[in-house]
This record gives sequence, structure tokens and C-alpha cells, in this order.
Amino acid sequence: MESIKARVTRSGAILLGSNFTVDGHSSRPVRIVTHIHADHILELEKSIRECTLVAGTSYTLEILDILGYKIPMDKMLSLDYWKPIEILGEALTLVPARHIVGSSQVLVETRDYRVGYTSDFKMPGTPPLMDLDILVIDATYGSPHLQRKWADWEAMAALINIVEESLKKGSVVIYAYHGKIQEIMMELRIRGIKESFIVDLQGLKIARVAEKFYNVKLDPIMTSSDEYTNSIIFRHASEYNESKSKLTKILVTGWELRAPAIEVKDNIYRVSFSDHATFKEIIDYVREAKPKQVIVDGTRGTATKITAKYVEKILGIPAMSQPS
Ligand SMILES: [Zn+2]
Repeated sequence: MESIKARVTRSGAILLGSNFTVDGHSSRPVRIVTHIHADHILELEKSIRECTLVAGTSYTLEILDILGYKIPMDKMLSLDYWKPIEILGEALTLVPARHIVGSSQVLVETRDYRVGYTSDFKMPGTPPLMDLDILVIDATYGSPHLQRKWADWEAMAALINIVEESLKKGSVVIYAYHGKIQEIMMELRIRGIKESFIVDLQGLKIARVAEKFYNVKLDPIMTSSDEYTNSIIFRHASEYNESKSKLTKILVTGWELRAPAIEVKDNIYRVSFSDHATFKEIIDYVREAKPKQVIVDGTRGTATKITAKYVEKILGIPAMSQPS
């Protein structure tokens, strides 16, 4: 049995305790999926074949099915937030993370150790995992240079303003990742925007899961085969380009660091809205959680060595980026 109770492998698996592999594959009994983003379902097919159980929140498991990952019923372990389950002598708990539909943090503990992984998160709204021996943390924006200078609500207000103005002229296309799309849908409905959402069939199914998660009605939602005028069309961020179009195009990305919203060309906008903690929020999380040791996930973040150095110098907590 391994004596080190938390580490990040070269292939991006977060190994917790003795039995769990999180967001990447390893030959361990239980694969945990914290959320459905591509960089957190690495080698999932292999884990479905080789691991005894595949665990996640009911929302995550439902979206995985929509995305085509067929987990056999006898391997599927659906967990509620905050409800520990004991597996092979270790207690496993999924803790909420404010990121996308169904997102979780992971806590593994026994009488002898307590370790955890934040996965992707933002603050406030993510309860820090307290009193850990080892905290594995995500650092998507791992350096002070990547700090956004405005609040979420400013970027969301800018987005809603552009959407409302553009709808007077015709349809709007919003480009974003899975998860962020559903969050934007929810924000638009809460703020009283009533125009139809147009998505593909997969997008429609994921929106239905999001309705349960956020407890907000998102209708009217239609699939792309429907007739539409003055609608809000959602597409995956990978389909975005800046070629001319009759429709207003909006890319929603956390990597726009110049302003909350920028018109890059006529009717083409970039809005700076992210579902990841800013650098300051990462440090705030660690300060509050007070772990004995920090591992920054070096396989997914940016400038993770700088994050580790900062945690050591500013907070005085031993920290490293892993794999080194
Ligand atoms: Zn994510």
C-alpha cells in the first residue's frame, strides 16, 4: 500500500487515499468524476472497463450518459453532496464546488489521514475542505498576472446588456463550454430574458439536468431544427470564429483579461466570464482551509509552480506543483 496519501500522476489522475483515482485513470478500485469537462474525464472509458466503481453526483452521471459514456448499472455509484460513504476502510465524501452543473470536490479520510481535491472551483460559493493533511488544488489562473480586475457580476451584466441590445436586431449566438452554457441560460432567465434558447439535442438534454440542479425553468428551449427568429443560439466554444456574420456573436471566455466585454469587430464580442477561481481566490481558499501541505495540480493549471511558491512564501504552508 502506498504511504503517500495524495498525489497527481503524469497522466492527470489525482490519487487520493489507497482506493480512489479522481478525474484520470489509474488501476484503483474506484474512479471518481468531479464534473464533465473534457480535462476531468481523462481515460474514462478505460476506468469504466477496469475499475470496480465509477462515482460522481447524480447530475454528473446523468450528463456523462448524455455525452455517450455508458457506465454499467452495477458499477455506477451516485453520491449526494456531504453524505460520506465507506469504501474499503476509507470514508469518501463529495463536497459541492461552485463551477458547473453537478461539480464536486472530493474528501477521503480515515482515522489516520484526511486528504482532498478541490477540482475546478470558484469563490465565493465553494466551501473549503478543512484540516487536511494534503490538499490538492486546481490553479487554472495560477499567477497574479492572470488576475481578472472585475467581478463576475460585472461581466455577467455586460453580457446581458449585449444580448438585450442585439436581440432588437436579430438572433444572438453565444459560444461557451458545457456547463458555462447552462449557467448563462439560468442567469438570462433569472434576469427576465424570455426569448427562445436554441441548442442541439445533446444541449437540450443537458439543459434539463441543469434545470434540476439550479431549480430554474429554462423554457422555451428548442433544438436547432426548429424555425426561429430573434433567438439566443448556444454553440460550443470550439466552434467560435471571428468571420463576419448577420447574427451577433459572443464568445464567453475567462481568458479575456482586457475588460469585462470587448467588441472585437462589428457585432462580434468577447465577454470575460470564468467559472474558475482567480489567483487571489485560490490563495483565499488555501488561507481559509489551512491544510498541512498543498499540491497544485500541474497537469491542468497555468503557472502552477508560481502558485506553489506563493503558498509557501505568503501562507507558510509547504507546497509543490505536481508532477514536478
Ligand atoms: Zn471544469
